[in-house]
Amino acid sequence: MKNKRSPQHSVEWNSGRREVLQSLGALAVATAASGCTTFAAAPRKSYDVVVVGAGVFGIWTAYKLHMAGRRVAVVEAVGPAHSGASSGGESRVTRCGYGGKEIYSEWAWRSLSEWQALSARSGLPIFHPTGVLWVHTQPSELVQASARVLSRKNIPFTLLQADELRRRFPVMRVANDEAGFLEPAGGALMARRAVQSLASELKANGVTFLSGEVSPIRREQGENGALAAVTTKSGERIDADQFVFACGPWLDRICPDAMANRLFVTRQEVFFFSVDAGATGALPIWADLPFYGFPSLEGRGFKVANDTHGAPANPDTVDRRASAAGEEEARAFLARRFPSLAKAPLSEMRVCQYENSSNGDLVIDRHPGLDNVWVVGCGSGHGFKHGPAVGSHIAELVAGTAKPRDPFLIASKLRQQDRGVQ
Ligand SMILES: Cc1cc2nc3c(=O)[nH]c(=O)nc-3n(C[C@H](O)[C@H](O)[C@H](O)COP(=O)(O)OP(=O)(O)OC[C@H]3O[C@@H](n4cnc5c(N)ncnc54)[C@H](O)[C@@H]3O)c2cc1C
Repeated sequence: MKNKRSPQHSVEWNSGRREVLQSLGALAVATAASGCTTFAAAPRKSYDVVVVGAGVFGIWTAYKLHMAGRRVAVVEAVGPAHSGASSGGESRVTRCGYGGKEIYSEWAWRSLSEWQALSARSGLPIFHPTGVLWVHTQPSELVQASARVLSRKNIPFTLLQADELRRRFPVMRVANDEAGFLEPAGGALMARRAVQSLASELKANGVTFLSGEVSPIRREQGENGALAAVTTKSGERIDADQFVFACGPWLDRICPDAMANRLFVTRQEVFFFSVDAGATGALPIWADLPFYGFPSLEGRGFKVANDTHGAPANPDTVDRRASAAGEEEARAFLARRFPSLAKAPLSEMRVCQYENSSNGDLVIDRHPGLDNVWVVGCGSGHGFKHGPAVGSHIAELVAGTAKPRDPFLIASKLRQQDRGVQ
């Protein structure tokens, strides 16, 4: 990762380091004052847990650990949800329909109330309750399986036939054999704002944020299978009892023993089109795979993106200018589904990256070789919404009250892509 540290972060780093030095100094003074030599347990580490990476997974992990009473430090190379991070976009969909992948329906539903609570205590909205609509040709196995799971879990949804879709959302062109699966409780998460708001909240509550790029870890660094400390590229050492690496598209570089050749980073383009207020009526967020999009939120524009995995990408050097070909594809899609918007002027473009596992399942597991290190990531284009549930699960793993579980195990991830989660 390129070093893009800002002066503001250096100040935070220095104040964090000062805290470390102060606590070590206090320990020395206390030992000297007691006037006796003790052979008690090793000195207490500066932190219970160090979380590396302040994207959506790192920040919710820090939050849950902090709420559980742990002394937490977050180490971040650039800044929470910065432009190059996968959590740095404007908006993310939250929905519970996942076909038969029940764990994600459960986690998305459980996370939703935490997002709503964060939104309610923040100055600006973090959750927009737009609803989420899957448009599909009947019959759809994915929709049928989603309906079964959501019914079982009492998560609300409605099935809409073509004429009802046309009546409610006249901006959409709908064929007679098409239908809609509407999740009224779903909506949009304001991604960057969400991560940065939670980071501010944690800072205000005394969680330490340190700026620095942590050097890669290798199993050989372990003493009796445990990591004692991480070091930053500028030579700072940070001790803790446990470590969580939540480094998004950089995860394979920093934890190569766990993730080398198991992370597939792809380039994804997103387009926003200028539309008049009210032009799309009560249209919710919609998915018409491989395309999906949002009504204009906060005046940003009608968002359209293609969920097909793009070219392999290096998050440090990927070309962040969207292509004319991508815009043409998006317009061709609009002409089919939202004909009145096909010629809308472009208001913004963005290039982001998905950090995919081989099959789309997240990774949340112990490092293979370092017992006190946890590896989390591979949001695979759908992970953002699960941030609160992921944080809770890691807090349980750290506490030893849960075990790493399927489908998040590193060993279950292949070195070849075969996407299985939509
Ligand atoms: C275009 C797009 C659309 C998406 N749509 C959705 C959606 O609709 N719904 C949904 O739920 N999800 C969606 N996702 C997926 C989701 O946004 C990501 O999976 C998620 O944000 C990944 O978060 P993360 O914390 O793993 O990684 P990141 O946000 O990338 O955070 C990783 C952090 O680690 C830091 N870091 C890395 N290496 C180091 C180091 N050595 N030392 C210190 N710090 C380091 C980085 O600077 C970065 O801040 C989408 C993603 C994209 C790109």
